[in-house]
Amino acid sequence: MNVLITGVAGFIGFHVARRLLRAGWQVQGLDSLNDYYDPALKRARLALLESDPGFRFVNADLADRVAMEALFADHAFDRVIHLAAQAGVRYSLENPHAYVDANLAGLLNVLEGCRAQQVAHLVYASSSSVYGLNTRVPFAESDAVDHPVSLYAATKKSGELLAHSYSHLYGLPATGLRFFTVYGPWGRPDMAPIKFARAICAGEAIDIYNQGDMSRDFTYIDDIVEGVVRVLDQIPGMQPGWTPEQGSRGQSSAPYRIFNIGAGQPVGLLDFVRTLETALGVPARKNFLPMQPGDVARTWASTEALRNQTGFSPAVGLEEGVERFVHWFRGYYGVR
Ligand code: NAD
Repeated sequence: MNVLITGVAGFIGFHVARRLLRAGWQVQGLDSLNDYYDPALKRARLALLESDPGFRFVNADLADRVAMEALFADHAFDRVIHLAAQAGVRYSLENPHAYVDANLAGLLNVLEGCRAQQVAHLVYASSSSVYGLNTRVPFAESDAVDHPVSLYAATKKSGELLAHSYSHLYGLPATGLRFFTVYGPWGRPDMAPIKFARAICAGEAIDIYNQGDMSRDFTYIDDIVEGVVRVLDQIPGMQPGWTPEQGSRGQSSAPYRIFNIGAGQPVGLLDFVRTLETALGVPARKNFLPMQPGDVARTWASTEALRNQTGFSPAVGLEEGVERFVHWFRGYYGVR
């Protein structure tokens, strides 16, 4: 089986690619290796992937229509896993164009390639940020409000709408995955676990927003990968017996679905910091700050829909996950 993984040098793409290579898949990776965060970390992930003979890599920008058309014209893919995106909430306040280019124009090029090639299944990354200021917890897939509070969230929600329209118009089987705060080895240096761990080890204060009144559904990377792999071969079909009358009542015929992938257990930010302090064996100095624009106070995934569909439930608890993360962190950054 051949799979295209976009964002393959990124945190989640790297882990998904490793898992599929081990299972014998042929993986075509794509990434622009941009400098949003440390390109050396992306190259280190890529070097590990390139040691596997089943792996091929193309350095391309998703928004480059000519390059994307050429990629889909030259290769046949059984599956496409679209993970490349401009991520990060705070960065979107200063760099709005990067989000529209990568997350909308880039996604459109992926959708066009899948349509042209009649790819059997597109699995793409959405985000818990689409829930915006939802207050009903845990967040169930049907509860996403249309009030994204950052440009990042707006592009992720818009991406879901674009994917649905392709699924409806062209019968493209598509599954959207709303990931909840992912952490673990080879994680992103712009996210709290690495930022906090580096600062704590350097004796610097860590920034705690909303005076600490924050919680996140921290999800260990292996659980994310397991969820992605499980949905990959569960291809959504056209809704059986669908009629245009049902359409007029607002029911979609599209072979399309959306799942949360999260631990399903919100963790207070200060509890997360305590777990990290214990694993590092160093106390943190904290700098309490107000809520940041574009941020939300809490996230909490309902895991029911994915469990019902695939039997999947998250396996790695916070303490174990943080210990595994710290083990990698010490080795990669050379911290004792
Ligand atoms: P990441 O930034 O580590 O990986 C994204 C990769 O995409 C990077 O290697 C980057 O170089 C590449 N990329 C960005 N723009 C590109 C472009 N225009 N063309 C080609 N490549 C490009 O992020 P991640 O944490 O691995 O996230 C993967 C996906 O999951 C993203 O779509 C992200 O929005 C989503 N997501 C992640 C989290 C999380 O907690 N990590 C949570 C929710 C959603």
